[in-house]
Amino acid sequence: MGSVRQVLETGGRLLRGKVPGQLIIQLTDRCNAQCPQCGMRVLNRFPRKRLDNDYVKQLLDAGAQRGMRMVSFTGGEPFLLLQDLVELINYAGKAGYRYIRTGTNGFLFRHHQELNFEDKVHRLAERLAATPLRNLWFSVDSAEPDIHDRMRGFPGVLAGIKKALPIFHAHGIYPSANVGLNRNLTQETMALSPLEGDGVDEERFIRAFSQGLERLYRLIIETGFTLTSACYPMSVEPGEAGLQAVYAATASERIVRFDRREKVLLYQALFATVKKFRHRLRIVTPLSAVHNLIGHHSGNQGHGYGCRGGSDYLFVDSVDGQTYPCGYRGADGLGRLWELDATKVAANRKADCRKCDWECFRDPSELFGPLTSGLFRPWQLAAAHLRDPQFLKIWFRDVQYARACDLYDGRKAPDYTRLNAFAGSVRDGRTPCQANPLARQSRAVGK
Ligand code: SF4
Ligand code: SF4
Repeated sequence: MGSVRQVLETGGRLLRGKVPGQLIIQLTDRCNAQCPQCGMRVLNRFPRKRLDNDYVKQLLDAGAQRGMRMVSFTGGEPFLLLQDLVELINYAGKAGYRYIRTGTNGFLFRHHQELNFEDKVHRLAERLAATPLRNLWFSVDSAEPDIHDRMRGFPGVLAGIKKALPIFHAHGIYPSANVGLNRNLTQETMALSPLEGDGVDEERFIRAFSQGLERLYRLIIETGFTLTSACYPMSVEPGEAGLQAVYAATASERIVRFDRREKVLLYQALFATVKKFRHRLRIVTPLSAVHNLIGHHSGNQGHGYGCRGGSDYLFVDSVDGQTYPCGYRGADGLGRLWELDATKVAANRKADCRKCDWECFRDPSELFGPLTSGLFRPWQLAAAHLRDPQFLKIWFRDVQYARACDLYDGRKAPDYTRLNAFAGSVRDGRTPCQANPLARQSRAVGK
């Protein structure tokens, strides 16, 4: 019954030119980790803030009234507020949210050699299992455990996560490895020089990242994860018009800075590797979105679908409690969620923004793009299909894959029989994107 209502609700929104709404609430910018790529790392000294529970409940009510059914509680480190987090997840469930997500840097799993470690994890998993939480992520930032633990500043944390995962699974929670793509993937990617000028070694770059991503997915599987997602680099091109980050997770450090040409190569490596591992792991990253990012960064203006940030997807910042189109558009504040300026929201729906690669908003925008386009602008869909004949095929496969993954439901075990239908799809080592003339233009893209 619930799923029939869901289909009707989604259909109703699509017919009104909207997609299922998503709210990202940054509960706090406090964090206890040392990640070099993030402005919120503990070593950065600035006054930290948090939203209080009553305020967040008002946000949740206002979002639910706008028809939002997806909410993410993010940070900083949300698990520093565990008691409040549990209360808010329960509140969100009662308010009508069905896709409730949160995550952690894993600090609770640091001291896995302690005698009562398993008991502590059991209690945590039991507590979360009693809430309507749908997806829980643990951040993983490198294919090499030592590098990962060092970046986080938590020695042994990955080993603790490995011990914790079977306990979560026993409680019916299947956490996802949330991978932040960065240059510290492996020793080899760390040693790469920036791609500058002529005669750069693109082959070396793509080989290092392809091998690094393979090692990463193997590590994720060996650690015991059954789900994973990828955060695209949180950097924007210097001079990208109108971007002013509100979200302190954005950083300009070299570790997450990739220029356009590097992004094309990185996304080509990602495309091929995701395809290779789709039958062994539920990988949230849609290949159609990666394909369109490759096209976009290859210099094809208007390639892919505009982002829904600011219209159907909204971000609330922990510092001022204000609503923003996303974490990157600090100059475009929309006020309190319950007082949203309808004119600005309507303008955002038409804005067609592609200024960053924030996967939380870009991936679902790309996935819903062909549906809204097919309904309201079928001629545009046909034109896009003619320009890029592979896209619809990749998109259709993504939809089939998402269904085989039970829409990435983190409260369900993977069904490997269904995932096996996605095995062995890389035949000649080339991705459709590499075979695609759009991608080959990467070499012509300036910095
Ligand atoms: S990336 Fe996450 S865990 Fe790391 S410092 Fe930033 S908020 Fe904390
Ligand atoms: S593409 Fe989306 S997330 Fe990125 S700046 Fe534009 S609205 Fe924000």
